[in-house]
Amino acid sequence: MIQTKAYAAQSPTSLLQPYQFQRRDPRPDDVVIEIAFCGICHSDIHTVRSEWGPAAYPCVPGHEIVGRVIQVGKKVKRFKVGDLAGVGCFVDSCGKCPPCKANEEQFCEGHTVFTYNSKELDGKTPTQGGYSSHITVREKFTLKIKKGLPLERVAPLLCAGITTYSPLKRYGTKKGKKVGVVGLGGLGHMAVKLAKAMGAEVTVFSTSPNKEVDAKKLGAKNFVITKDPQNFQKYAGKLDLIIDTVSAKHDFSPYLSTLKIGGTHVLVGVAPEPNQFAAISLIFGRKVLAGSLIGGIKETQEMLDFCARKKVFSDIELIPAEKINEAYERTIKGQVKYRFVVDAKTL
Ligand code: NAP
Ligand code: ZN
Ligand code: ZN
Repeated sequence: MIQTKAYAAQSPTSLLQPYQFQRRDPRPDDVVIEIAFCGICHSDIHTVRSEWGPAAYPCVPGHEIVGRVIQVGKKVKRFKVGDLAGVGCFVDSCGKCPPCKANEEQFCEGHTVFTYNSKELDGKTPTQGGYSSHITVREKFTLKIKKGLPLERVAPLLCAGITTYSPLKRYGTKKGKKVGVVGLGGLGHMAVKLAKAMGAEVTVFSTSPNKEVDAKKLGAKNFVITKDPQNFQKYAGKLDLIIDTVSAKHDFSPYLSTLKIGGTHVLVGVAPEPNQFAAISLIFGRKVLAGSLIGGIKETQEMLDFCARKKVFSDIELIPAEKINEAYERTIKGQVKYRFVVDAKTL
């Protein structure tokens, strides 16, 4: 077994604290990764605080993982010791159902094994995430990371990157398209960079006036402060697509008003409480309200290769493990530019 150092929460209300556990030795199709960096996603906070329903404790969160392969099973072909590797939001699935066959393992009809707060395919072994020193993962669910990239800035691509890349691509983002991004946090800042890299004109909708300068540096053309409803008027009927990354309850209606006829508002933010909107804001203009969940392994690899080619990486604040609890508070207050990343050496 592999002795693993980690940070875990023991209950919905306890702080994350040092914790040790064991990872499995590699099976023939596994790789063992020594983790270098792990991003802090708002989903980690929702989960460890049981905001989406009761979590299993102890809970080691983290699903934006990059590191180096230190051991491979006998049948592993794509990785060797020393290679860089990434792990995202899930680590296994049935492999046989239609979504798995269509490379959309996040929708597995059998059982998507999420990276933490989930059970392995055996139905009993709990999974633990990337605020840890090592992880053992099936080769098929391990991503290739090119050499020579700023590794700590690559980590957030494994969730924030793919979650925004997937709907941008699905809804045809390219030159000539106008994309709105709601919420400039971890996901939002990646949505701005990716939409811009795909050629679109980007408008950011934010509750934080102090993020305007950053939004423009990240690639946005327009910045709308959402606290004043008047500010939406200028954008009525202008946008092709909205990527909504807001982590809390909000009304979709003013955003829907900024879409062109037939435009799509994609939700990726998962507010713990039900959201609301006026039906009329969807019906007039035949608008579409959609959702999107991360992306499959094939698409995640495509996104990583796209980001390497276009030099799109996350803007991060690198922290030692002892600052994780403080980072959670700052993330909730929207005080992160724009992703916290834990340096696994400090665990
Ligand atoms: P984050 O860094 O905290 O960013 C969220 C942003 O939303 C904040 O920076 C803030 O931006 C805005 N916001 C926060 N509270 C708000 C409120 N009450 N009203 C309006 N705007 C508010 O979080 P994240 O890591 O990007 O994650 C965002 C959400 O996506 C979370 O719910 C997370 O669980 C979810 N998520 C979903 C998927 C998926 O596959 N669908 C994957 C990963 C994460 P401004 O300061 O600009 O207003
Ligand atoms: Zn995430
Ligand atoms: Zn499946």
